[in-house]
This record gives sequence, structure tokens and C-alpha cells, in this order.
Amino acid sequence: MRLDSLKARVREAGGPELLERLEWLDAQGTRPPVAPRLVGRPDGKLRPDFDVVLAGGGLSLLYAPVLAGFGLKVGVFDRARAAVVHREWNISGSELAPLTDSGLFTPSEVESLIVARYERGVCRWHGGGEYPVRGVLDHAIDAGRFLSEVRRRAELRGVSFHEGHTLVGLREGPHCVRLLFERAGGGWGDVTARVVLDARGASSPHATADLICPTVGGVLSGLKQGRAPDEVDPRVGDILVTTEGVEGGRQYIWEGFPGRAGETTVYLFYYARARRSREHGLLPLYGRFFERLGRYKRGEPRLLRPTFGYIPGWSRLTPAPRAPERRVVLVGDAAARHSPLTCCGFGGMMRSFLPGSRALAEALSRERFPPGPIVHDTPLHSVTGLLALSMAIPSRAPERRDEVNHLLDTAFAVLHSMGNDCYAAMLKDQLEGRDFARFLAGIARRRPQVFRELRTLAHTGPFALARWLEGFSRLLLNPFLAR
Ligand SMILES: Cc1cc2nc3c(=O)[nH]c(=O)nc-3n(C[C@H](O)[C@H](O)[C@H](O)COP(=O)(O)OP(=O)(O)OC[C@H]3O[C@@H](n4cnc5c(N)ncnc54)[C@H](O)[C@@H]3O)c2cc1C
Repeated sequence: MRLDSLKARVREAGGPELLERLEWLDAQGTRPPVAPRLVGRPDGKLRPDFDVVLAGGGLSLLYAPVLAGFGLKVGVFDRARAAVVHREWNISGSELAPLTDSGLFTPSEVESLIVARYERGVCRWHGGGEYPVRGVLDHAIDAGRFLSEVRRRAELRGVSFHEGHTLVGLREGPHCVRLLFERAGGGWGDVTARVVLDARGASSPHATADLICPTVGGVLSGLKQGRAPDEVDPRVGDILVTTEGVEGGRQYIWEGFPGRAGETTVYLFYYARARRSREHGLLPLYGRFFERLGRYKRGEPRLLRPTFGYIPGWSRLTPAPRAPERRVVLVGDAAARHSPLTCCGFGGMMRSFLPGSRALAEALSRERFPPGPIVHDTPLHSVTGLLALSMAIPSRAPERRDEVNHLLDTAFAVLHSMGNDCYAAMLKDQLEGRDFARFLAGIARRRPQVFRELRTLAHTGPFALARWLEGFSRLLLNPFLAR
């Protein structure tokens, strides 16, 4: 499919603003350059304009009303419009609790944001089996309304919004950071803040996670409803599904979850190593999406709302994304502390925004910078990153094209046989060390050649194995360390 007709399809369904976002993301590539503009150092006598500036008003916007609720002066700056998403989100029901715990939403307000619930989720591998699980990614959220509600609450608490402001550089002084913005209408502007939350997602120059999932898709109507795997069953969410082997060095994966009556969100993505290159364009991926959709779900699909983006993943086998200054904190996708395997940044945000905001308010009250860990992480991620990395660099040899599917099929067969609690815990980032060891032993028993196939470590250098073993030891010791 030609790029022009793909653009036309996105524009027709999403409007020119969404197409601009897609083209901007593609122009950035999967690793934006660290070439900030020179910014003058703020001197010590300056009174900062804000306590906190949130650079990026996507999902991380959740920090804004909570911080403002602590009496802090907060400004949100976004290159486009804030609180506008080109995403749909699914999440496990129990993970929504922080929305009410924070006091931002009442239980009935949260209820009104849920557009669908599923009896079960499934993972299904080409040439292999189907593995159902309960209690995982079993709620679909109205992402657009959710973020506009977060914005409304932020405004009620005095947060100011500055749209069409692209952050192009920053510099720290003794008491604050100066930020330089390029304005959409032309011209420049600068502000100062005691602390900056870099919430620019994968577009932040400091989002240096080593993996990336280019993802495209959208809300579709017209898919055939039914019980067959290639039909949409409103009671079932597809968590991870493959319909073919590796092609062109990529293992493509589908995800699909029904929403409002007659609507289904469908994504196509693959894992890749993040590097400064245009080889992972979202528009070409849309070409494949439309071409191959019929292999995944039957029907006469119509794209109602396009959804797309680059989701970073950090394998934990390379250095972590780091903020450039003491008063700058990476949050959300820029920090990439969510699972490198499931890339559930929404779930990760739910675990982070409330304790993270409290920690930040505390650091501000004590003038303690850097403020310490703000974004939630878990020892499980230091071991699952290897699996994600192995999917990012599959063998290109035609005779090994089904290797990733076979490996995933074995892994999910083992998880499924361990019972729903373990299977669900793995997908919700809660699996304990001894269960992860049982999981590995189960894979090795069923597929002894797995260690030969996992040549991944050879690609990552001599320190990766040491890092992975250290992560595994921490995971095993975690229950004792946490006491
Ligand atoms: C298609 C897709 C589907 C997804 N589905 C799910 C899901 O179902 N469940 C789940 O758990 N997670 C999902 N995720 C992941 C989740 O959406 C992300 O983890 C989350 O949005 C990250 O939030 P963020 O605030 O870090 O970044 P974003 O939400 O990406 O927001 C970044 C913001 O920064 C702004 N910006 C960028 N550069 C600049 C700049 N220089 N100056 C100022 N502003 C700037 C952008 O305009 C944007 O508003 C999905 C991601 C994608 C791409």
C-alpha cells in the first residue's frame, strides 16, 4: 500500500492533527538525538515561575492534579494539545485502585470510564496452542475521556496548561531549572521551575531504553463477531497473538480487545532494538496492519480512530535511562520502568503516580535533589527483559522463522500449567522469584534446546549475563529483603 493512501486513511479516520502527530513521531525515529539547545544557567537569586513543570501532557498528566493537591504550583507544557491521546488502554481491574486512593476519582466515576470487561484473556501462538488467563488486562478504558477528566481536575486545582510548546533544552542552576520552548506559532519562550518532570515519552532525548515496540492500529468496527479465534468475542480480550513466523527479522504480534458495542481495538506491534534510524516507521507498519488484518480477524473492518506510537522497553541489561540534571526526573515512557515484556505503561503509571508525587513533594519540601526513586519498578523486570530482547533480535534464517513462536508457546504452556495465579502474576509483574525459577525449569524440561536458542546474551556483551544473574538473585532474595 502506498504511503499517500496510508496517510489518507489515517487522516480520514483521525483528522489532520492526528496525522501530524504520526508524521512527527516518524520524523523523530525511534531514538531522538540528544542535541539540546544552549540555555542560559539560571542564577541563584531568581524566583522560579513554577514548583513543578511537567514537560509532556500525555498519560503522565496524572502527576499534575496530585502535585497541585499538595499545594505546589504546577505548569504543563506540551508540543501539541495536552490530554489528547492516540491510544486506547486495557488494564487489570485491580490496578485501577490508585485512581480512587488518590482522591482524584470516586468509584462510580472510575466505573463510568470502563467501556468493557472480559471473562478471560488469551495468548495464542502461530502453530501452537491457546492459553487463557483470568484477571489480566480484563478492563478497557475510555482513554480520551479519562485524560480529559484528569485535565479538568488538574485545572480545578490551579494547574496551568501551555500547549504548542516544544521543549528544546534545559539547564540547571543552584535552585531551579530553566526550560526553553519553541512555540507552535513561531518564537521562543523560557520558564523556570524548581523541578522538571520529563514526560515526553519515547520522544524525550533522555528516553535511552534499549528496546522499542513500534505499535499501530486503532478502534475498528465491522469485524465479525463469534467464538472462532479469527472472530471477535466480546467476552474475550486477546493479550498476545501471532499469525505467522518471523519475517524480515521481525516477529509481529497482534493484540485485540473489544470496547463499546460493535467496536474493537486492534494493535499490531513488534519488539526491536532502539537505535537512531528510520527503519521502524509507523506508516509502513500501518501498511502491514491493513494488509494482514484479515489473517487475524475476519470481517469488513473500518478504522474509526487510529492509535499508534513507539513504546520504549528497557531490558535491564544495559544502563538505565537517566535524567540529565539533579532537578529533572524522568517519568512514564521516558523512564521506561514498566515491564519490558508486556510494555504495559498504563499499569506502570497506576503504580507510580501517587507514591511518586508524594516522594516528589517531600523532596521539594526538604530541597533534596535528586529526589530518589519516583517511578515504580520491580525485580521481576530485570529477568523478563531477556525474553523481550530475544524477541527483538530473532534469527533471520528462513528455517528458523518459527523459533520465536515455539519458544513463546513453550513458555506460555508452562505458565498455564502453573495455574492461573502464577500465570496472571507473571503478566501483572507480580511473579515471585521461586515461581520464576519454576517457570524457567519448566521451559528447560519441555524444550532443552532453549538455551541454545537464547543466543541473545551473545549480542549484548559480556556484562549482560552478569546483570541478568544479579537481577535473578535479587528477585530470589526479594521476599527476604522486603521484610
Ligand atoms: C498504540 C499504543 C497502545 C497502548 N496501549 C496500552 C495498553 O492498552 N495498556 C497499557 O498499559 N499501556 C499501553 N500503552 C502504553 C502507554 O500508552 C504509555 O506507556 C503511556 O502513554 C506513557 O505515558 P507518557 O506520559 O510517558 O507518554 P505519552 O502518553 O506518550 O505522552 C507524551 C507527551 O509528550 C508530548 N511531547 C513530546 N515531545 C515533547 C516536547 N519536546 N515538548 C513538549 N511536549 C512533548 C507529546 O505531545 C505527548 O502529549 C500503549 C501505547 C501505544 C503507543
